[in-house]
Amino acid sequence: MVQTAPVPETAGKLARRGLMFILSSPSGAGKTTIARMLLEADPHICNSVSCTTRPPRPGEVDGVDYHFVSPAQFERMVEDGDFLEWATVFGYSYGTPKAQVKAGLKDGQDYLFDIDWQGTQQLYQKLERDVVRVFLLPPSIDELRRRLTGRGTDSAEVIHGRMERARSEISHWDGYDYVVVNDDIESCFGQVTQILHAERLRRARQTGLIGFVRELMQPEA
Ligand code: 5GP
Repeated sequence: MVQTAPVPETAGKLARRGLMFILSSPSGAGKTTIARMLLEADPHICNSVSCTTRPPRPGEVDGVDYHFVSPAQFERMVEDGDFLEWATVFGYSYGTPKAQVKAGLKDGQDYLFDIDWQGTQQLYQKLERDVVRVFLLPPSIDELRRRLTGRGTDSAEVIHGRMERARSEISHWDGYDYVVVNDDIESCFGQVTQILHAERLRRARQTGLIGFVRELMQPEA
């Protein structure tokens, strides 16, 4: 009778190292919607909750959307080396807490990051092998302008400022591994999901297969 080695669970925890899935885009490219769809659809990825000195917006929950901290607390965390990366965006500080993410990755937990190009670069420099960088683009300049125009209540100057920020963010697209044009939310979501699934199968992440592969390579008695 032929003995077959059991195939270990590869999609679940412990069978592989987790990854850090970074989604960046100019505002107006649908990043928030794609991030929400991914979190709802996939039980193996969770949000990395950043710390920020920005005050909560209506509906935002401390510990869920962000850890809302004072500037002094944030400063202390920087000095204590508690962040994997941090940046100042629009006058407020934002940072990725180190401890939880590092422990989770070892456990096979995937993390979703909604951070800008500065944070992406810092995470890549520190944890290159764990990072997957995805950039979303709007389908056209007209569509981007339409999405950033809001309900028509903002001044031309405000809209101009938003377009400038979007252009500046887009100029960093070459710092990403994958680029997806969001012209249709479902197909964009499908493409982002394919990237996540393929990245999970990278050999270097499949640490749980090492014993199994060794067994497969055993010479026959
Ligand atoms: P908001 O205040 O609108 O939630 O976020 C403002 C900007 O801060 C967004 O571009 C978002 O990607 C960025 N951001 C949020 N959390 C972090 C973080 O932990 N690190 C960095 N570098 N940027 C962040």
